[in-house]
Amino acid sequence: MQIVIDWDGTVTECDTLMLTLRHFVAPAVLEPLESELDAGLANGTITHRDVMEQEFAMLTASLDDVVAFLLDRARVRAGFPEFVEQFDPLILSSSFHETIQPVLAREGVKPRLRANHAEPRSSGWRIRWVSDSDCATCGEPCKRGSLPGGPFVYVGDGYSDRCAALAADRIFARDGLASYLDEQGVPYEPFVDFHELARALG
Ligand SMILES: [Mg+2]
Ligand SMILES: [Zn+2]
Repeated sequence: MQIVIDWDGTVTECDTLMLTLRHFVAPAVLEPLESELDAGLANGTITHRDVMEQEFAMLTASLDDVVAFLLDRARVRAGFPEFVEQFDPLILSSSFHETIQPVLAREGVKPRLRANHAEPRSSGWRIRWVSDSDCATCGEPCKRGSLPGGPFVYVGDGYSDRCAALAADRIFARDGLASYLDEQGVPYEPFVDFHELARALG
């Protein structure tokens, strides 16, 4: 069975997008925007895509500076490189090839990766989305459209994993995704790190 894994907060211990925004965008700018966007996301008036576009429009740092920061600060969960070698997972992320690839290179692995692209600009980053079509299930562009064919295991932690996880044959979840699945009454197994995941998948 194919294994599909989210990147931020799942492979990585912390969400690298949040790490980046909190480091490079002034709190006085970021915090009110985050509160407003979180409220909009919770009551359904804006999409996850709107949130990312508005947050990254506040980021004016260079790609070199962001990559250097992430190489220093982004940590992957235990057992990730071995897991990639053994299971050939697909990494499916709403963040960016430009910020993910350097961390993968640091870890010495080249997993299959489907992610969006960042267009860093000094006037605010823009996002080049892989897919623009709305998902028939959740009504907004989501990860479901990038899933492989056939049965799959989904491993994730957050909002952007919800719709794709619901399409999976087996789900490993933590944090916000686990809470969401609890609310929905959907069964899942806990995701801790890649050693435990490898054992669970046998
Ligand atoms: Mg995530
Ligand atoms: Zn969807």
